[in-house]
Amino acid sequence: MTMDLFARHRAVLPDWLALYYEDPLEITHGEGRHVWDAAGNKYLDFFGGILTTMTAHALPEVTKAVSEQAGRIIHSSTLYLNRPMVELAERIAHVSAIPDARVFFTTSGTEANDTALLLATAHRGSNTVLAMRNSYHGRSFSSVGITGNRGWSPTSLSPLQTLYVHGGVRTRGPYAHLDDRDFIDACVADLEDLLGHTRPPAALIAEPVQGVGGFTSPPDGLYAAFREVLHERGILWIADEVQTGWGRTGEHFWGWQAHGRGGPPDIVTFAKGIGNGMSVGGVIARAEIMNCLDANSISTFGGTQVTMAAGLANLTYLLEHDLQGNARRVGGMLIERLRAVAAQVPHVREVRGRGLMIGIELARPGTDEAAPEAAATVLEEARAGGLLIGKGGGHSTSVLRVAPPMSLTVAEAEEGAAILERALRSI
Ligand code: PMP
Repeated sequence: MTMDLFARHRAVLPDWLALYYEDPLEITHGEGRHVWDAAGNKYLDFFGGILTTMTAHALPEVTKAVSEQAGRIIHSSTLYLNRPMVELAERIAHVSAIPDARVFFTTSGTEANDTALLLATAHRGSNTVLAMRNSYHGRSFSSVGITGNRGWSPTSLSPLQTLYVHGGVRTRGPYAHLDDRDFIDACVADLEDLLGHTRPPAALIAEPVQGVGGFTSPPDGLYAAFREVLHERGILWIADEVQTGWGRTGEHFWGWQAHGRGGPPDIVTFAKGIGNGMSVGGVIARAEIMNCLDANSISTFGGTQVTMAAGLANLTYLLEHDLQGNARRVGGMLIERLRAVAAQVPHVREVRGRGLMIGIELARPGTDEAAPEAAATVLEEARAGGLLIGKGGGHSTSVLRVAPPMSLTVAEAEEGAAILERALRSI
């Protein structure tokens, strides 16, 4: 049955549309932190949290808000006043920590980053952009042009002049051997060196924790140090919070807050889970930056009433149930548990993470060499045991990614860790 659908998929969809597993999975329904496949098998979902489902699968509050709104009106998000859009923008501006914030809604993270690039390049009159090595920012022509992860950058052509900066990855690269302070100093020197040899860039865009790149993060304070260098020169700082926003990292509501000294970024982009499955993305920026465009710019589907209703219900649930606190507590416990397992599995090079954003980097034992086959084995074994996880990293996809819905319970964390332990031991 699944293979039949797989063959049909292959016959009609592009080859480059990535699919997990030898025998790809068809997910047919979900509830809470669990999903079921077409054959009726049940899985604990340790990855859907970062893709679509930030809080929980089939969350009744969101389902009700969506179905009621869908039965009332779905119309263009612009040209007419849109009450749910105004309300969600007010809520997001309030939690953004950006002064005099304006919010623009898009349909995806890609479109959010495109908008951030449009604003920054227009504001600064420059199409030179700084981005981080190993980054991922989307699939459009412009966002691919700032994506340093070559495995996800299918063209080297670009409307932008992009310069790549060191610092997003702590474990690999020329500065990996340095301690935190020296690492930051070396990255700042690298940035200053680049700036000394180029026309003034519009902005630096960075994920506070690299998502697709394998949940890697620099030492706290790197982006605060970058910010000082950038702001001296009038260059904008764009934080791509598509994976790190809304409290997922536990300690902070936004990923950039781990680098908060000196204040918020000039532009923040968000997407993925905030609509709990409905396509809500967007950009937050100070009025001065958001309003710099001197022509109309609309997104027909960005901010429709039904997606905004989902976002409002989801954000309300997230805040009322303190899911950031839950991510901190349950995620902290899960990281400790996985570190204990990892100490006994030679292929595990590092378990890292914050809150419910946990990466397990694999390498051939005793070396620094990536181990993509081992990662593929763990993914298959975890699935066989009833657990879905993700993978990431550079070309080699040698990092296992754990990012469950943020309502994960302690019992579910224990259950998932036990399955993952068996899968890791099977390498
Ligand atoms: N930015 C980051 C950090 C992402 O992880 C992603 C998606 N993986 C995107 C942007 C693009 O989002 P979308 O797929 O919704 O276009």
